Amino acid sequence: MKALFLAPLLAACLYLPPAEPPAGGPSAEVMFWDLADALAREMPLEETVVIAIVDLPPQFLGMTRKGLLGKLQVLVDGGQEINGLLDTLVHEWAHAVVWNVAQPDPHDELWGIAYSRAYRIKMAAFERWRKVKKSEPAGEATGGPAGTVQGETVP
Ligand SMILES: [Zn+2]
Repeated sequence: MKALFLAPLLAACLYLPPAEPPAGGPSAEVMFWDLADALAREMPLEETVVIAIVDLPPQFLGMTRKGLLGKLQVLVDGGQEINGLLDTLVHEWAHAVVWNVAQPDPHDELWGIAYSRAYRIKMAAFERWRKVKKSEPAGEATGGPAGTVQGETVP
């Protein structure tokens, strides 16, 4: 009798490999900044945030912090493949979203909820990019809320 219920249970628990951004889609730079725009649009922050691709010390892939001028900074280490860049952006955006909430652990449940939302925005971006050929701009690459994100690539 038990075997009757086993098959659907297994199907629900199938392990899938980590999602990769589509090959042959927009360039890595376009994908990164398109995701940044989508995160800012769909999970807006109350303050201006600077997103930058930088060279971080080896132990860091990303960092969210208050800069010298009091601006929130989301820093992503540029020495990563595109999937790492996107995952790090999602991870750090979740930190930015809960930045002003006192947290006993920076990766607590509240951060996890923000991370989950940001991850789903990344997956939706993958779907958009699958429909875009390399020569075309990413579908919704522009149109984020003005003044929310200031992107820069720092060598
Ligand atoms: Zn973290």
